[in-house]
Amino acid sequence: MNFLSEEQEIWRRTVNRFMDEEITREYVRKCDMERQYPYEGFDKIAAQGWLKALIPEEAGGDGGNIFDYALMCEALAKYGFDFAASLLVSTFTALNVVHHASPEQVERLVKPFMAGKLRFAILISEPGVGSDVSGVKLRARLDGNEYVLNGQKLWASGSGAENTVLCVLARTDPDVGRHGGLSIFLVPNDTPGVDIQPIETVVRRMTGTYQVYFDDARVAPDTMLGEEGQGWQLITDHLDIERISISASYVGNAQQAVDDALAYAQEREQFGRAIFEFQVIRHRLADMQTRVDAARLMVYRAADMASRGEPCTKEVAMAKLFASEALREVSLQGLQIMGGHGQLPEADMERYVREGTQATIGGGTSEIQRTIIAKHMRHS
Ligand SMILES: Cc1cc2nc3c(=O)[nH]c(=O)nc-3n(C[C@H](O)[C@H](O)[C@H](O)COP(=O)(O)OP(=O)(O)OC[C@H]3O[C@@H](n4cnc5c(N)ncnc54)[C@H](O)[C@@H]3O)c2cc1C
Repeated sequence: MNFLSEEQEIWRRTVNRFMDEEITREYVRKCDMERQYPYEGFDKIAAQGWLKALIPEEAGGDGGNIFDYALMCEALAKYGFDFAASLLVSTFTALNVVHHASPEQVERLVKPFMAGKLRFAILISEPGVGSDVSGVKLRARLDGNEYVLNGQKLWASGSGAENTVLCVLARTDPDVGRHGGLSIFLVPNDTPGVDIQPIETVVRRMTGTYQVYFDDARVAPDTMLGEEGQGWQLITDHLDIERISISASYVGNAQQAVDDALAYAQEREQFGRAIFEFQVIRHRLADMQTRVDAARLMVYRAADMASRGEPCTKEVAMAKLFASEALREVSLQGLQIMGGHGQLPEADMERYVREGTQATIGGGTSEIQRTIIAKHMRHS
């Protein structure tokens, strides 16, 4: 994209090169196939200081803006969204934490996170709570000078990784309507009364996704983020950042799907010529690249507006909708171009397809993004 500034272009290339030389596609593939959390990759990224991105300088971070963060996400996801997810679940949760944390919480949680010694996971969904987040039931009751947590969370990505703090949306007051009475607690994943069980989903094999049971888990009041009853506001603030980062990641993964399909089409020969010579294949690739470029432009627009502090919920929802569907579509087309070879894990395309099927669900489904967009539409 030639409208990136020189600094942004250098940053984009730096993270891309790091992925190629330090992380590698083979490492991403291996973690996916073996369902291994990418501790080594996480440590390498922490060593670069990239976990400080967007964390305000007063809290010891590097500051920067969300556009640069989006460029990083795009590159980190090139060999599969899940690798980026293993970091981003932590980084976008840390960003929300740092904006509402007490100075003591910044010292205890955010600083160790930036040093790569601690991770975060975000626990909103429950068995009965998906798109309608306001229905959260997990209960937190004050008992003496502790809160007692009881209930179940579902799809809690990254919750089982070592040294992870669970950012838990809980109901502290059931009598003040669905959006009121919610609060957030920052609960270490080795707290007694917290039981974390892996779920064998088709994606998120390296980050891992879990069901988490809270059975009389007792936590101190200083585990609360912000104030009691602020949970809804904090989670809403969180969602725009989360959606920009994941949309940028879908674009990075989708671009790699196009690149891999193009390379294969140029190399694979049938009927005495490279299959790229068949017009149907060339046109398919042209459509794929056009779709990815359009998704990238939408993500950059949303990130640019967010970095300038402009309201952009509609543009963020458009970016999430379009980029997730772009990843799903181009990876499926890539699979078709690669024929039988695309089915093999070594070809990587089957991983991109799996990511594409989840992209339109996680972080808010495509239907919910369309609902948000429609809600913000005005006559121009
Ligand atoms: C691999 C994976 C990782 C995840 N990681 C996390 C995580 O780390 N933390 C976390 O809190 N959650 C996580 N989630 C949960 C994810 O955010 C939810 O799956 C998502 O919000 C959708 O909720 P649901 O699956 O319960 O679907 P439902 O809300 O039950 O929706 C089912 C279908 O109905 C449609 N639908 C629902 N309401 C409407 C409506 N009003 N209008 C039109 N259509 C509607 C949906 O679009 C969808 O097609 C993860 C999920 C997966 C699969």
